[in-house]
Amino acid sequence: MDCLFCKIVAGEIPSKKVYEDDQVLAFYDIAPEAPVHFLVIPKEHIPSPAAITEENSKVVAHIFAVIAQLSKELHLEQGYRVVTNCGQDAGQSVGHLHFHVLAGRSLAWPPG
Ligand code: AMP
Repeated sequence: MDCLFCKIVAGEIPSKKVYEDDQVLAFYDIAPEAPVHFLVIPKEHIPSPAAITEENSKVVAHIFAVIAQLSKELHLEQGYRVVTNCGQDAGQSVGHLHFHVLAGRSLAWPPG
């Protein structure tokens, strides 16, 4: 499958890993938008948030548990933002479900 993040999961494209287990991979974003910016993805190919179903959604809960654990390990006590972009209007550029975790600066709201 021609999917950038599947290739990162397979180790065919290098990444700076933050965390890995049998279900998920977390790695630093190549173009960070904040002092701390990493992505958490399911290893299973789910194309976007719009493709989450009752059958495949268990990994999403696990991803949020991993993010909570990493926020402690990385000392993000000041706060962080979790973002997932869905589709063209939201600016989704990679067709594999991913959650951005942004931290290390004050983040404006509402987002642009
Ligand atoms: P989105 O635009 O929400 O689909 O997010 C995709 C993210 O993937 C962007 O923030 C990119 O900077 C990031 N990205 C693209 N290629 C890589 C890569 N090889 N390693 C790490 N992050 C990447």
